[in-house]
Amino acid sequence: GIYLDYQASTPVDPRVKAIMFEVMDRDFANPSSESHSAGWQAGKRVEDARATIAEAIKCDPDEIIFTSGATEANNIGVLGAALGAPEGRRRILIGATEHKAVLEAALAAERFGYTVELLPVEGSGVIDPAELKNRLDESVAVVSVMLVNNEIGTIQPLEELVELSAAAGAFVHTDATQAPTAIDVDVRELGVDAASFSSHKIYGPKGVGALYLSATSPWRPRPLMFGGGQEQGLRPGTLPTHLCAGFAEAFRLIAEEGSGERERVEHLRNSFVRCLEENVPIFKLTGTCSHRHPGNLHARFIGIVGDDLLLRLQPHIFASTGSACTSGHLSVSHVLKAIGLSDVEAGECIRFSIGRQTTESDLARASDIIAGAIDSLGDQVRQSGR
Ligand code: PMP
Repeated sequence: GIYLDYQASTPVDPRVKAIMFEVMDRDFANPSSESHSAGWQAGKRVEDARATIAEAIKCDPDEIIFTSGATEANNIGVLGAALGAPEGRRRILIGATEHKAVLEAALAAERFGYTVELLPVEGSGVIDPAELKNRLDESVAVVSVMLVNNEIGTIQPLEELVELSAAAGAFVHTDATQAPTAIDVDVRELGVDAASFSSHKIYGPKGVGALYLSATSPWRPRPLMFGGGQEQGLRPGTLPTHLCAGFAEAFRLIAEEGSGERERVEHLRNSFVRCLEENVPIFKLTGTCSHRHPGNLHARFIGIVGDDLLLRLQPHIFASTGSACTSGHLSVSHVLKAIGLSDVEAGECIRFSIGRQTTESDLARASDIIAGAIDSLGDQVRQSGR
């Protein structure tokens, strides 16, 4: 099959795998063990990984908190940060197109007396800074707006949003999970207090991620878990040395090869769009190709149910309707609703995402297979008289 679901997860790069195996073989001691050199050596592996990630996103190593993934990082960066806010700051503002891991983490704070407000987006997925400005004052605890959207690929211009939020004294978090494969990420330049990352979206292993937490944030998030005190008490538990090392190598590779890779992927994506526009009359790109993740292609197939088409594409093409975490439920994507699609239109959508191993011939074949599947679905619709 042709894998076109890189925004759901990426294959582990062989160079990452090699380092992980080496660490699992040699550095299995507890990285927090201070009584022997095997522990020191494992601990050094973790600290080297931390330094590599810090270098990739341009911060200090002690501003990196390892977590189990972006879900956990988002929970600390939104819910934890809200719980740490001074009295009087009890409002949370988040983008309307946030991933569930931000949305649900924010909603969980309602149990503790906080209120959540969604910032509306334009058709492109971009937030108008005026919408934020209107809502900002000294009662806001946390503002969280994602850097790159996982469904429609929007790259959010954060600068003004961050400036306004910081001026109001809020804690500013961004979900940057999808960002490293789309743009160079410099957390200092972004000016946020916290940012979430995930290894399995950048050709690293699943089960590890990180929260960047600025040394100059207005306050520290409250921990959501309690235990041995690792990761500055914010994420206690024995660190998975091999996952940390693999995650760091994945980040190092992106820092080294990312810009060339993004150019290649964007070129492939744009020609795939042209190819589908020529061969599939009912194809309609969602939004435009500018300000968008280079590997993201989100589109409607007018008159067809996206899930039916995905099924028809098995076992030849692996894509999805958007967010792996919400597919399974037959609910309409809140992201597509937020950009103004009707329920029917949202149901016609599919996300293809292109990455490191995608080739030109993969996409030429994929385009033929999609055109064929749509023809056969069309026949089926006609025969059933619908
Ligand atoms: N945020 C975004 C934008 C994502 O795309 C994802 C993964 N679907 C997550 C958060 C959750 O990340 P993880 O799988 O590492 O928990």
